Order: sequence, then structure tokens, then C-alpha cells
Amino acid sequence: MKKYDIIVVGMGPSSIFFAYEMTKLNKNKKILLIEQGKRVENRNCPIEKLGKCAKCKPFCNITSGFSGAGAFSDGKLSLYNKEDDDIYVGGELHKYIGVEETKKLIDYTDSIYLKFGADKKLEGTEYKEEVGQIKKKAQKEGLSLIDIPIRHLGTEKAHELYKKLEIYLEENNIDLMFETKVYDLIIENGVAKGVQIINAKDNEKEEKSVEEIYADKVVIAVGRKGANWLVEMCNKHNIQTKSGIVDIGIRYELPDKIMQKVNTYMYEAKFVGRPEPFKDKVRTFCQNPSGFVSAEVYDNNMQLVNGHSYKDKKSTNTNLAILVSHKFNDPFNRPIEYGRNVAKNLNELGNGNVVVQRLGDIYRGKRTWKEELENNSVVPTLKSAVPGDITFAIGYRTMTDILRFIRGVDKVIEGFANPDNLLYGPEIKFYSNKVKIDSNFESSVKGLYSIGDGGGMTRGLMMASASGVQMARILNKSAK
Ligand SMILES: Cc1cc2nc3c(=O)[nH]c(=O)nc-3n(C[C@H](O)[C@H](O)[C@H](O)COP(=O)(O)OP(=O)(O)OC[C@H]3O[C@@H](n4cnc5c(N)ncnc54)[C@H](O)[C@@H]3O)c2cc1C
Repeated sequence: MKKYDIIVVGMGPSSIFFAYEMTKLNKNKKILLIEQGKRVENRNCPIEKLGKCAKCKPFCNITSGFSGAGAFSDGKLSLYNKEDDDIYVGGELHKYIGVEETKKLIDYTDSIYLKFGADKKLEGTEYKEEVGQIKKKAQKEGLSLIDIPIRHLGTEKAHELYKKLEIYLEENNIDLMFETKVYDLIIENGVAKGVQIINAKDNEKEEKSVEEIYADKVVIAVGRKGANWLVEMCNKHNIQTKSGIVDIGIRYELPDKIMQKVNTYMYEAKFVGRPEPFKDKVRTFCQNPSGFVSAEVYDNNMQLVNGHSYKDKKSTNTNLAILVSHKFNDPFNRPIEYGRNVAKNLNELGNGNVVVQRLGDIYRGKRTWKEELENNSVVPTLKSAVPGDITFAIGYRTMTDILRFIRGVDKVIEGFANPDNLLYGPEIKFYSNKVKIDSNFESSVKGLYSIGDGGGMTRGLMMASASGVQMARILNKSAK
């Protein structure tokens, strides 16, 4: 019988930083990380070569593999302002361990990123006065502007950095198992005992050869990619959850020159608003100056849009997400399903692809045609996106929120609502139903823990990584 001290499901940043910290705290622990995707050096997205998404099997290389969604991410590590008395970006880790502890944890996690080659330069720290002026303008429009320092790895540098971590973990006796999916959890009498695994290639086959591996503790670190699987597990094993949210929106692309000031002063400006009449929370997220819009594939070939920027390769456009947070209650309480339905409808309209539309066409009440896009002043950076009408699939409430928000930001950044600016959809952030965990990140099942984005605690590279470090400290302490 194969037996480990700790098994971690998934190999995203939360899992990697957990393992890294364990190598520092306790080298005697037998630790296994299991990942359905490939090693970081074998992860390739063929979209640039093919001009369209190849829907890689068994799993999308953008979202699966060593370093999870982090490998192809833009690698913007969101830090914090020393003077802030709250943490505004990256989820809810601070709600479990407190604001001051979270700040210390971010500093420590950042030092690991630096050790493995992250750029020493911090974006968004030089122009306090200019940022203050933009903040004031935003406030007048009922918008908050969150400016925090960012350490920008860049997509290609993120790859190199995670490769170094992959080598480090293997050299330090952490077992890494790739192209293996955790099919089920082994839970007996309310206690986690291990996992059942299958070869990733068998994922969609009827016949699966299942193997069991046992462990004293199982940590779930499956990211948003594993949100669906996690819901299944929670339902099957009665793992307690809290109702979550789903963020539905679009990726917005506009010329760098419109965003020039914001890009220079802040690199990433996070605007948050609650436009009338719904007062839903609308926010900008993941801003990529001179960046590229990208597509990523989730379960059942669901294609979502995202964006990134490289350190060296540049476009002349900035892209950013505009997301609306939706919560549901009675009688419908399934945010993931709601988001999936929006994505499904939009993908169908785009013949399986991301749909792109000019803002002006939405106001004119018409779709965008191919010829119009070819002559548009803003040239789309996602070549596989299909021109069409995203308003057919995004609900009235979400669309109204987005359009009013764009109008509001336009009063702060002139040109933000120009008619040639592009909206791509669907951009959806699934957070799963939040797994109920205590301050030790332990779920209602004894010995079963949840970290990172998958269980809904974090949202973003830095916080996911920091949650892994904290998990290692907790499990090391409990072992003493
Ligand atoms: C294109 C893109 C750009 C991004 N840019 C940024 C950015 O600039 N800044 C930022 O802060 N955040 C960014 N993010 C988000 C960031 O990547 C995530 O917040 C972070 O990676 C979450 O880490 P995680 O460890 O929780 O999960 P993930 O990184 O999602 O990793 C989870 C891993 O678990 C694996 N897995 C899931 N289920 C199973 C299973 N059943 N069996 C085995 N393996 C499984 C998955 O294949 C995946 O590799 C971006 C994301 C994307 C997709």
C-alpha cells in the first residue's frame, strides 16, 4: 500500500509554495503532489502557431500542469500598502489569519519569488501624487481606485521561475506525479485517508483503471480549473460549503495611448464601482499594458477569455477584465452553473470560440462583422476571436453593470468608452462554492484541507502562494 504523510491535489502556486515551505520546515515528511497536467517545460499552448485554440487533450496547457494557471499568467504579484489597514486584493486569506500576519506572509512569499529570479523592480510605487489625483477623479464618479505595488514577472519569466522551483522541489525529495488526475477522495467515517488516481488520458474514457494512495493528510489545491471537480467531491462526501459567487464579465481591449497615464503611474489600476440601478460590485482586474488577449479551455471545451503581457514581446493595446460579482440565494443557488450557462451560450454564438464586439456596436444595437473588425482602429490581439454579439448571451443585469461602469471610468480616463474599443466574452471567474474551513484551513472532513483559489480562499498568484506557505506552517506545527 502506497502511503504518504501528506498528499496535495494540484500543482499550482499554492501547492508549490506549500511544498517549498515544507522543505524548509521538515525534511522528514513524505510528500506527494499530484497534477493532471504536464511538467512546466512540456507545457505549450499551440494557439500562436495555429491561430486558434487547439482544445488540447486531456487538459488545457494554459490552466493545467506544474504551476497551474500561474505558468502562462502574466505573473503580476499583487503586494500591499504598508499604511493600509486592510488587504484589498487577492481574496480572503486575511480573514483567516489577520491583516498583519497576511502582510508578513506576503513579504516572506515575495522573498521566495525574488530568490527564484523575480524582477526586483516594483511597479506602482513612484507616482504617489499623480495616483492621488486619479483617485480623486474616480471618487467623484463613485469609483474606488485601489493602487498597490505590483511585482511583474511577465509570462515568459514566470515559466523560467517555476521551472527552477520544479527542479528545487524534486532535488529536495518532494514527489511530483504528473499527468495523473485525482479521481476521487478516500474518506472513511468523516476522516480523509487518501486519494484515488487515474491516468489523465483516461479522464474521458468509460473504463478507468483506478489506483489508491493513502496519506495522513490531504490538501486540496485544485485552483479554478478544479472548481467543478471540487463541487462534485463536496456533494459526494458531504464536505461542507458556503454559497460562493461567480464573476461574470468581459475582457476589454483599448489602445495603450488611452491608458498611458494609468499604465505609467500604476501599471495595474484596480477600479471598483457599484453602478445604478443594481449596485452590483463591478471591478477591473488583471490589466495588461501592451499585452495580448488570450483564450483558455476548461472542462467540456468551455472556452474563456483572459489576458497577459510579456516582458519582451509587446502589442500596442492594453487589456483588462471588467467583472461583475453575482451571488444567488433562493431557490437557485448554483453560481457555477449560472456562469457555465453564460459561457456555453457565448461559445455557441462564437462557434466554440471567444466572441469579440466593438463597444460602439453595442450602443448601436448591432453585432460586429468581420469586415468592420478588419477596419477597426483597435486591432484585436486575440486572432481566434469571432466577431459577433455578446449581448445575446450576457444577461441584461450584467451588461448594464458593465456599460455603466465603462461610462463611469471614461470620466476618469478619457477615451475609455471609445466606440472602437473591444469587448471579448466570456470572461468568467469560477470560485466553486467556498469550502468551509477553520483557521487551520481544515474542512468539515478531518485531515482534509483546502488552499488557493479552488476552495474560494484566494484569488491570485501571491495570495494562493502565501496560502500554501501558511498551510505548511500549520501542518508542521500540528505534527509536533
Ligand atoms: C491567463 C491567466 C493569467 C493570470 N494572470 C494573473 C496575474 O497576472 N496575477 C495574478 O495574481 N493572478 C493571475 N492569474 C490567476 C492565477 O494564476 C491564479 O490565481 C493562481 O494560479 C491560483 O493558484 P492555485 O494554486 O490556487 O491554483 P491553480 O494555479 O489553478 O492550479 C491548480 C492545479 O490543480 C490541477 N488540478 C485540478 N484538479 C485536479 C485533479 N482532480 N487532479 C489533479 N490535478 C488537478 C490543475 O490542473 C492546476 O494545474 C491568471 C490566471 C490565468 C489563467
